Amino acid sequence: MARVRATRPQPATLIPGDGIGPEVIAAAVLAIEAAGGRIVWDVQKAGKASFDESGTPIPDSLIRSIRRTRVGLKGPLETQVGRVGYRSVNVALRKTFDLYANVRPIRTLPGVRSAFSGVDLIVVRENTEDVYSGIEHQIAPGVVEAVKVITARASRRIARYAFELARRERRRRVTAIHKANIMKLSDGLFLACARQVGKLHRRIKYDELIVDNACMQLVLRPQEFDFLLLVNLYGDIVSDLCSGLVGGLGLVPGANVGDRCAIFEAVHGTAPDIAGKGVANPLAAIFSGIMLLRHVGQTAPANRLERAAHRLLAERRVLTPDLGGKATTKKMTERLIALL
Ligand code: ATP
Repeated sequence: MARVRATRPQPATLIPGDGIGPEVIAAAVLAIEAAGGRIVWDVQKAGKASFDESGTPIPDSLIRSIRRTRVGLKGPLETQVGRVGYRSVNVALRKTFDLYANVRPIRTLPGVRSAFSGVDLIVVRENTEDVYSGIEHQIAPGVVEAVKVITARASRRIARYAFELARRERRRRVTAIHKANIMKLSDGLFLACARQVGKLHRRIKYDELIVDNACMQLVLRPQEFDFLLLVNLYGDIVSDLCSGLVGGLGLVPGANVGDRCAIFEAVHGTAPDIAGKGVANPLAAIFSGIMLLRHVGQTAPANRLERAAHRLLAERRVLTPDLGGKATTKKMTERLIALL
C-alpha cells in the first residue's frame, strides 16, 4: 500500500471579526477540521472587538501573529463611516503586510438560483493605492479634495501577479478595466503597465474596457468575461457587482495576497442586520478557508470540502435564508460536514 505522507500542521492566524464574523468563522473552522485540514489556529482580536477591549483596532499581538504564521483567515471587520472613529482595519492590514493583490473567484455554483449560469471569472484588484491612501483634506470651507495615487511600481506588480495567476489558472483573456478617458494620467499609467506586462504573455489575450461600459456588459453577458484586472476603487465596486451575478455576498470568497503573507476573507461585510441571529450563510467564509488550504498546499482536504459544499448547494435541503432556505448557520454547517 502506498504510504501517505502526513502533512505538517500549518499555523494560521484566525480573526473572528465583527458582526456575523464570529458565526461564519466558527463554521469555517469546524468544516476545515472535519475535512481533514491540518491547521493550528492562533486566534486574534481586531477591529471593534479589540478596540473595545484594549483601545486599539490592530493590537501588536495580531501583527506579530501574522508575521509569524504568514497566513490568516479573517472575518469581516466593522469600518466606521464618516469622520469619527479609527481608520479601516482592513486597509491598515493590507498596508502593513503589503497585501497588494485582492483575488476573488466568481463562479456559478450548483443549485444556486441566480440570473446567470456559466459564469466563471477571476477578479484581481490592486489593493494598496488609488483613493484608498486615505489622503483627504478640506482646502476651503465646503471644498474637499481626495487624492488618487497610482504608481508604475504598484501597477506593474499587480499586472505581473494577475498575468501569472491567469497563466496558472489557464485563463485565456485578461481585461483591464479603467476610466482613462477621464483620468488620463493615473488610469493611463495603470493601463500602460498592464499592456507592457501583457506583451510578455503572448498566449493570453489582453483587452481593455471603460468601467461604466464594463458594468453594463457584465450584467448583460458575464459569461463572456474570463479575468478582470482593476485598480482599487473600481475593483471594490465591480467585484461586489460580480458577487451578485452568482447568487450574492454569502457565497463569494476572497484573498489578499502579498509576497510574504496572505489573508483570506469572504467578500461580505459584518451584515449588522442579521448579526447574532445565527442565520448567516457560512459558505463564503468556508470557500475562503478552501482557498487558504490550497495556498498552504493542503489540496486534498480543500477538494473534499469544495465537493461537499457543492453537494450541499445542489441538494437544496439545508440552506440559510439568503439562499431561499430556513436553516441556521449551525444546521447548514452540520449538513455540510455530514456530506464530507
Ligand atoms: P459592512 O458595513 O460591514 O460592509 P453591510 O451591511 O454594509 O456591512 P454586508 O455586510 O456585506 O454589508 O451586507 C450586505 C447585505 O448582504 C446585508 O443585507 C446582509 O445581511 C447580506 N449578507 C452579507 N453577508 C451575508 C451572509 N454571509 N449571509 C447572509 N446574508 C449576508
